[in-house]
Amino acid sequence: MALALNEDEMEKYLAAGEIARKVKKESRKWVREGVSLLDLCEKIESRIVELGGSPAFPCNICVDEIAAHFTPPPGFTGSIPQEGLVKIDFGVHVDGYIVDTAFTIPLSPRDREMVEVAEECLLKVSGILKAGIKISQIGEIVEKFANSKGFKVIRNLTGHQVDRFNLHTGFSIPNVRIFSTEKFRKDMVVAIEPFITIADGSGEVGESEEAYIYRFKYLSMNYTGEFGSLVKKIHNSFKTLPFCERWIMSQFREVGRDFLKKVLENYRKNLMLYPVLIEKNGKKVAQAEDTFLVLEDSAINLTSGEV
Ligand code: MN
Ligand code: MN
Repeated sequence: MALALNEDEMEKYLAAGEIARKVKKESRKWVREGVSLLDLCEKIESRIVELGGSPAFPCNICVDEIAAHFTPPPGFTGSIPQEGLVKIDFGVHVDGYIVDTAFTIPLSPRDREMVEVAEECLLKVSGILKAGIKISQIGEIVEKFANSKGFKVIRNLTGHQVDRFNLHTGFSIPNVRIFSTEKFRKDMVVAIEPFITIADGSGEVGESEEAYIYRFKYLSMNYTGEFGSLVKKIHNSFKTLPFCERWIMSQFREVGRDFLKKVLENYRKNLMLYPVLIEKNGKKVAQAEDTFLVLEDSAINLTSGEV
């Protein structure tokens, strides 16, 4: 991993961040009861492209107790429910330099406080983030604040370090107190993402049977079987970034509906699946996420702030 960012790399992170901020600001207004999740997802992804970026992973729209990793599959007909708690999580990359951000819209006033607590946790973290502080301080701050407000942190969802074409790399950044001597270093790019639930929540997510997001595990692999050349094209296009069936269908017109199923069977050991993650007690979950560039004595929030 690069030790220091050069000017070109820095510019690309800043450009990705600016696109993310614009899309975030616009898409907040698109979250309303009855809106199709598929349309909303595609609108967000197209907006990223229109602004000069690329989606770093399929836009996730997770409602209520669904905490993470849901993206609508092709033909999905679900829409935003009445009083839904809607989490939108998307990523932008410019030449592989990724930012990752998320926000939650509560359509019921009853969920407003949970969302505010998640956002406040993120603000508190951004206030102390700089080179030299311990990773463990993040969880300490988040857990303490969420508990003080009567909420619970999802302990098995964490923030993460980001690198070129690599969404989750290096260490993870827990939202609860842990023992770790690991420290943030200058020029690290990190996504901080507290997930909060109510006191009756289990504070953990479990994997569902469904998975709609995939990624290739390695940058190089052998392409075998009848789909070899097509899989090679797909691999070259997404590299090791997450992708979904919608993207394959729209970018590679020659594939049929059962294509992905066959690829999954043939290339299972080369692919990672992201199962949909659900709060174990079925309680609603709120999330806030920003990506930061760590500096010597502060951190730049790449995905937040006024545009
Ligand atoms: Mn995210
Ligand atoms: Mn993330």
